[in-house]
Amino acid sequence: MSGRLGHASSGEVVLAVDIGGTKTSAALVDRDDVLLRTETAPTRAAEGPAAVVSTVAGLARRLLDGSRERLAGVGIGTAGVVNASTGTIVSATDTFSDWPGTPVARLVREALGELLVPDAPIVVQNDVDAHAEGEHRRGAAAGAASVLVVAIGTGVGAGLIVDGRAVRGAHHIAGEIGHLPTPGAAHLRCPCGRRGHLEAIGSGIGMHAHFRSLGGDPLVVDARGVAAAAADGDPIAIRALSESAAAVGRALAGAATILDPERIVITGGVPKIGDAWWTPMLRAFADDAIDALQSTPILPGVLGDDAPLRGAAAAAWRAI
Ligand SMILES: [Zn+2]
Repeated sequence: MSGRLGHASSGEVVLAVDIGGTKTSAALVDRDDVLLRTETAPTRAAEGPAAVVSTVAGLARRLLDGSRERLAGVGIGTAGVVNASTGTIVSATDTFSDWPGTPVARLVREALGELLVPDAPIVVQNDVDAHAEGEHRRGAAAGAASVLVVAIGTGVGAGLIVDGRAVRGAHHIAGEIGHLPTPGAAHLRCPCGRRGHLEAIGSGIGMHAHFRSLGGDPLVVDARGVAAAAADGDPIAIRALSESAAAVGRALAGAATILDPERIVITGGVPKIGDAWWTPMLRAFADDAIDALQSTPILPGVLGDDAPLRGAAAAAWRAI
C-alpha cells in the first residue's frame, strides 16, 4: 500500500508488530485502536536477530512512506518467551536462529531511530500474550475481569489476563498450558523436549503425530488432513482428532481450577476444524471441571490475525 496517512499528525500513531515464525506483520494504529495501514513480510527467522529486526524496520519505513509522521511508541508481539519488563527474549524454538537473549526493544529502537518521537516506549511481549490483550481490548474477552486465551495452531500458546492486566509470572511463563502434563500424551514428545505435555497431542502437529502413532495413513501429512480423513469416516482419524481435542478440554479444566478465569477464549487454526473438534473438547472440560467451574464460558476468538497487532498497539498506548 502507499499514500499519505491523512489526518494523523506526529506522535498520533503507534507501530504494532507481530513477529511470527513465518511472517511479520506491522500496522500503524491510532488511539482508537484503528489499524490505519498494515504491511506484511516474510520473517527471516533463520538468518538471525539482525535480519528479523531489519524486517521490522523495513515494514515501518514502508508504512510511513510519504508521511512526516513520527511514531509515538512501538508494541511488539513475538514468538518466544519474553521478559516483558526488559523487552528481551528469554527462550525460543529453533525456528529463530540466536533469538534467545536478543534485546528486541533496544535493537528496534536503534533500527527505527529518527522514525520515533523522543522517548517513545517500545513494549515487547510474547505473541500470544499480545493476542490475549487484543481479544481483551476489543474481542471475545472484552469486559471480562480475567481471561485465559489459548491459541491452538501448530503449537499451543496462552496468555493470561487478571484484573485487566497481562500476568507474566516469575519466569515469564504464566498461563502457558501447552506444557501441562496431560494424560494420554506420554507417547508423544513436546517441542520443549519432554514427553506427555498438552502441546505434544493438542496442537495441530501433535494431533497429526498422535494420528501417525495410532497407525494412521502416512499419506495424511498434517492436522488439516486428519480432520478431512475424520470427516470421511476414517476411524483412526476420528479417534486422533477426538483425543487431541479432549486433551485440550482436560487441560483447560485443570487450568480453570487454578485460575478460575471469568472467560476462556480459544483461537488459532485447530479450533476452525469445527464441531468435530469443539464437541470432544467441551465434553472433556465438562467431564473434568468441578461443578463451580462448569458454567465458565469457553468462546472462540473473534479478531483472528488482527488480535496480536491490536494487543501490541494497546500495550504501546498504555506505556505512553
Ligand atoms: Zn512441553
